[in-house]
Amino acid sequence: MTDFAKDLLVWFQKHGRKNLPWQSSPPDIYHVWLSEIMLQQTQVVTVVDYFNKFILNFPTIADLANADEEEVLTSWAGLGYYSRARNLHKSAKIILLEYQGVFPSSYSELIALPGIGESTAGAILSLAYNQPRPILDGNVKRVLSRHHKVVGHYSNSKTLKELWRLAKHHTPSTQNAEYAQAIMDLGATICVPRKPLCSRCPVSRNCKAGLCNEQAHFPQKKARKIRPEKSLAFLIYRNFKGHVYLAKRPNKGVWSGLWSFVECEDNKTAISAAIKEHSLEARIVSSLPKFKHSFTHYHLWIRPIIISSPGLEKGYHNINKLALGLPAPVKKIISLLDSTNSGESNE
Ligand code: SF4
Repeated sequence: MTDFAKDLLVWFQKHGRKNLPWQSSPPDIYHVWLSEIMLQQTQVVTVVDYFNKFILNFPTIADLANADEEEVLTSWAGLGYYSRARNLHKSAKIILLEYQGVFPSSYSELIALPGIGESTAGAILSLAYNQPRPILDGNVKRVLSRHHKVVGHYSNSKTLKELWRLAKHHTPSTQNAEYAQAIMDLGATICVPRKPLCSRCPVSRNCKAGLCNEQAHFPQKKARKIRPEKSLAFLIYRNFKGHVYLAKRPNKGVWSGLWSFVECEDNKTAISAAIKEHSLEARIVSSLPKFKHSFTHYHLWIRPIIISSPGLEKGYHNINKLALGLPAPVKKIISLLDSTNSGESNE
C-alpha cells in the first residue's frame, strides 16, 4: 500500500464522513448508485435533501423503473443536468428487465449502463462491494494533480491518462470502501479548490505542490474561452385566476422534457407576433427585471414579460400546486409571481 493510501486511511477513521444518508452497513447499492449520480455535478450539502426526497418517492429500483419519466424529472427538478435523471431511469428499467432488479456487480456490466462512466463505476464498486477500483472524480483529480504536480489540464488526454495512472497506483488492494470515501472526502473538505487546508492534510508530508507552496498553481488551468451571450423573452401568460401557461419542451435540446413558458426573441416585433399567435385578447401587463442564466457554453439573458390572457384553462397551471419538472429560471420567476391573481393593475 502506498504511503498516500496509508495516511489517508488513518485520517479517515477519525475525520471521514460516515453519516451521510446514503451510507449504511451493509451498503445499499441503490443508495450508493443514486448518490454517486447526484454527486457527479453537485455538492454533498445540496444533494442530501434531493437524495432523501428521491428515495421517499422511489424507495426501490423497481419503483424507479416503473415510474413515469415525468415523475422522475419532477423529483430531480432543481438539481440540473437532467440527462442524469433520464439515464438513471433508463438504467433502472434495464436492471429490472435484464438483472431481475438486482444491481450488477461487475465492472463491465456497470459501465454498460446509461450514465455510468469509469469513475462512477469505480466509486460504486468500491463503496458498495469493497472492490479495488480506482476513481477519478473532480475531487480526486484535484488532490492527485496537487499531490504529484501533474502538468496540464484534465481536458488534455495525456494529463488525464497520467491522473488515471496515479489513481490506480494509489488504490489499495483492501479497505476499498474506506479508501474511496476517504479520497473523495479529502478533496471535498481539505484539498478544496480555493485555499486548501494543507496544515490539516493527512498526505501533506509527500505533497509536491504543498511542499513548495505551489498549491494555487495546481490543477493547472485550461485557457478560458469567453462564453457568448444570448437573449430571449419569456412570455408569462396568466389567466383571470392567476394560473400560468406552461408547455412541455421537446425531448432534445436545452431543458429537454421540462415545462417552461412560451419564449421568443427579445424584440418588440417578435414579442407582439408571439402574443397575437397565443390570443388576440392577450395584452402585456408588466415586465420583470431581465436576468442572466449561465450554461456551460453560453450565458442567457432572460426578460420575463407578464401577459394577461383570457380565461383559457388548457395548458394553464395553478402556481401553488405545481408538480412538474421546471428549469431553474422558470422556478425562479414563478417564486416572484403573486400567487393570488393575474397581477393586472385594473382588476
Ligand atoms: S497538502 Fe495541501 S495541496 Fe497537498 S493534497 Fe494536502 S491539502 Fe492538497
